[in-house]
Amino acid sequence: MPVLVDIGTLVTPRTGARQGELALLPDAAVAYRNGVITWLGAQRDLPASEDDGQRVSAEGGLVIPGLVDAHTHLAFGGWRADEWARRLAGTTYVEIARAGGGIARTVALTRAMDDEQLLARAASFATEMAALGITTVEAKSGYGLDRETEVRTLHAYAALDRRGPLRVVPTYLGAHVVPPEFRTDRRAYVDLVIEMVAYVAQRRLARFVDVFVEESAFSANEAREIARATAAAGLSLKVHADQLASGGGAELAAELGAVSADHLERISDAGVAALARAGTIAVVLPIAALWLDAPSPPARRLIEAGVPVAVATDFNPGTAPTFHLPFALTLACVRGRMTPAEALDGATRIAARAVGMEADIGVLEPGKQADLAVLDAPDVEHWLYHLRANACRRTLRGGEVTWSA
Ligand SMILES: [Zn+2]
Repeated sequence: MPVLVDIGTLVTPRTGARQGELALLPDAAVAYRNGVITWLGAQRDLPASEDDGQRVSAEGGLVIPGLVDAHTHLAFGGWRADEWARRLAGTTYVEIARAGGGIARTVALTRAMDDEQLLARAASFATEMAALGITTVEAKSGYGLDRETEVRTLHAYAALDRRGPLRVVPTYLGAHVVPPEFRTDRRAYVDLVIEMVAYVAQRRLARFVDVFVEESAFSANEAREIARATAAAGLSLKVHADQLASGGGAELAAELGAVSADHLERISDAGVAALARAGTIAVVLPIAALWLDAPSPPARRLIEAGVPVAVATDFNPGTAPTFHLPFALTLACVRGRMTPAEALDGATRIAARAVGMEADIGVLEPGKQADLAVLDAPDVEHWLYHLRANACRRTLRGGEVTWSA
């Protein structure tokens, strides 16, 4: 069976440990069979039974679990760089939206793509993400909003998951915004979302349902209705909460038993306490906060309160047009006061929990998938401190090399 050898240091979060408690193993090797780790330890202790001569060298690099981006809007049409430039010059988002820009513009461009274009675009991003050491991505629909484009988006994610290089965890985000054609009849749109939740669950097109709870999106009561449909369909819930205003979104996520509450730039003290009590994972998205020149999500405050904190990119054409997850981790340290070890944990073990895959990924130990990244860095601190364009030399997903520098 194949063995990854010549590992300078292997670093992995530990199952059940406090966030940021990492196991460090110098001069290590990892053996795997059929994509699953069978043994890891000091290379000098590698049992002959694990070594059939198929060796992949880590060339002295740092080996971490494959990175998990637990929050992206991966499939969308077009970009919005022109809007970004206008906002930098002082035009407000409301003015841009009134002129036909914003999410509505991305929705129109996404609906205009055929199936092949949707898949090819997402696949091109996925290839670049794998090169950064990412092996799993949560991907939301929500730029189609009509029945047909939402389903086509989720089919594209299923196809991408089959083809690689990433594992793709699909999320139905029909409750992103009320689309233009329903603006005079929100009720009908909420009914459509509820119907779609059952539809995508029956066809196994989504693992999660996400609701954007914000004054400009969906109300607490609308979220409660969608959450009931989600539970009835056997899917898990995520909530976009407290991004633009402190509207009780985190408290609602806790009340509804959501797996994660995402964003949280404006979370209240009561919201922090509610997440801690409910065991809800906080997914912080420091790139979106930076691009909006908004306060950073209070990662330190959440961790101190006992809330597990995942760090993700929020990759989307409006507020986070980069999928550079290591950059998000560095930002989570600098602006969110996470330690580098906590940040790594937040993009591996805790991110895996946030996407419901903790049984298979996020930690390097026997029985878990051989998803790993080999970094040209002496340790985690140096990796996130130096933040090169790309420090990743090699990525393995299920034991298969998906990127090699
Ligand atoms: Zn988002």
